Amino acid sequence: MSPPCFVANWKMNKGIAEAESYLYALEKHTAQQMDTPLSKIDFAETILAPPFTALSFVSEFLKQSSLRVDLAGQNVHYGGEGAFTGEIAPSMLREVGCRYVIIGHSERRQIFGETDPEIHEKLDAIVKCDLRPILCIGETLQERKDGKTWAVLERQLSEAFGEILQGHGTPENISEWIIAYEPVWAIGTGQTPTPGDVASVHRKVRECLCQGLKKGRPRILYGGSVNETNIETFMKEKQIDGVLVGGASLSADKLIKIIERGTAVKRA
Ligand code: PEP
Repeated sequence: MSPPCFVANWKMNKGIAEAESYLYALEKHTAQQMDTPLSKIDFAETILAPPFTALSFVSEFLKQSSLRVDLAGQNVHYGGEGAFTGEIAPSMLREVGCRYVIIGHSERRQIFGETDPEIHEKLDAIVKCDLRPILCIGETLQERKDGKTWAVLERQLSEAFGEILQGHGTPENISEWIIAYEPVWAIGTGQTPTPGDVASVHRKVRECLCQGLKKGRPRILYGGSVNETNIETFMKEKQIDGVLVGGASLSADKLIKIIERGTAVKRA
């Protein structure tokens, strides 16, 4: 079984000074655990998504450090380059050391009106630039109450993946792609679905992907009010390959606990 994956989405938080103390805290933790190899975590499947202005700093810091953490952009534009004031191209994210890009986050869909066709264009553009998508999908509370959860998720998935889900060639590195199931009503609210509910959604996502993909499959994470006290309950579910964490990931100490506890459950 591959190690669990942890994505820390800082959203619009942390300038360079705060990013630096955060990274020092992760480094210090790694140095301290040299004496306790059994519980060792190496952050190998940890992905940090800082705001654009901190990406370059974080990337340079990581190059000088022993931390094996990957970087993600929180958003991207689908154009190559040109007259798109305020936007960032996939090649720019690559240049500062990103390996992943978050697309389709519900805050972008809801606050900035991002549509499924745009998310598809973004996916296409980042994959052409050899970046990996972290595609967020999730239903609102009303959609859930109306019994439309699966219809919404299936639409978001099939529109984002497009022809890939119709069997037109599976990208070589599809197993490095990530899907994050994030019910909108669970993001930043302290409310979560039960781990069993999440597992059954993940099972459906997996079945849906298996119909279109020739080989390999993306990892499927859960996101929405995950913290250091509830992480174990989610990670006990075989269907959950990891978590995407917003609020709790702003504290390096909490992120470390989430990774330690989550990894221990998967190793057990
Ligand atoms: C998120 O931003 O995708 C998220 C899951 O946030 P939170 O952990 O704060 O609910």
